[in-house]
Amino acid sequence: AQERYASIRDKPAETLCGQRMTLMMNAGLMADLPSLESSGAEGVGLFRTELQFLVRSQMPKRAELSNIYARVIEAAKDKRVCFRTLDIGSDKVLPYMRAVDEPNPALGWRAVRVGIDKPGVMRMQLQAFVRAAAGRPLTVMFPFVAQREEFTLARAEMDKALERERILGHPLPERIEVGAMLETPSLAFAPDSFYDEVDFLSIGGNDLKQFFFAADRENELVRRRYDTLNVSFLTFLEQIVARCEAHKTPLSFCGEDAGRPVEAACFAAIGLRVLSMRPASIGPVKSVLRRTNLRELKAVIEEARQTGVMSVRPAVMEYLKEKL
Ligand code: PEP
Ligand code: MG
Repeated sequence: AQERYASIRDKPAETLCGQRMTLMMNAGLMADLPSLESSGAEGVGLFRTELQFLVRSQMPKRAELSNIYARVIEAAKDKRVCFRTLDIGSDKVLPYMRAVDEPNPALGWRAVRVGIDKPGVMRMQLQAFVRAAAGRPLTVMFPFVAQREEFTLARAEMDKALERERILGHPLPERIEVGAMLETPSLAFAPDSFYDEVDFLSIGGNDLKQFFFAADRENELVRRRYDTLNVSFLTFLEQIVARCEAHKTPLSFCGEDAGRPVEAACFAAIGLRVLSMRPASIGPVKSVLRRTNLRELKAVIEEARQTGVMSVRPAVMEYLKEKL
């Protein structure tokens, strides 16, 4: 399938109306990195770090992790890699950590919540990122932040890791960006100071959508019940885009929907400029974006919304079918 898109691999993801989009890839293994070249992705917008923890029978050592992260940074050459801290707990239990029995694991003690309450593992991981970056830029984001204070606490841990590295006399990252995933609806309504405090935000659409519609992403009975192009959800995304624009907070979208061409085109039409997806989706998404006029598509979405439809998908599909 990648061959089909080889001719546009090195071309920009620029729409018919001249809007430049940035397409990044999601990764989670060293073995994913060659896809940066082959897919034409401009960087890694989401590096999930769970796998290195899940494949071991005991807690990985800091040196092991920093070696892996350093190899990832090297393999990416000059492209940006956004590392996400461990998103684990509840349903994804590490065999060497005590499991807690929770009635609703997806709403439970996971990700940054664990990192704040029991900071040992998160500290070790942050130290590993800092050690790996050594003189190069570093980008880190925290998953599942639900209120500003959680970000403030997590970022303070990052500052501690940097200070520790400085005292030890190791080279610090050349520059550092610390952001949050926006995957709980609460963050869309966070105080202005939150939008100023983060260096960037990345919408975790998989979780954001599950919490927005209160529909479990793992439950076959409901997981396809609500459309991403549902008017309520699109309007919600637009509000997030507007808040980020008002605060000049860089925003990306890294959930699975970013890799679906129709969804991706609609995200671009409502103002998202950076999308991160599985490598195989870069070609198809770029191909559609390059043949789409965002102003026209925006008008189609607007018109459909005015008529009171539940989802703009049928109208968008009809428009795209004519154009593509
Ligand atoms: C998301 O929630 O959209 C996301 C990118 O994170 P994950 O799928 O790992 O929860
Ligand atoms: Mg998520």
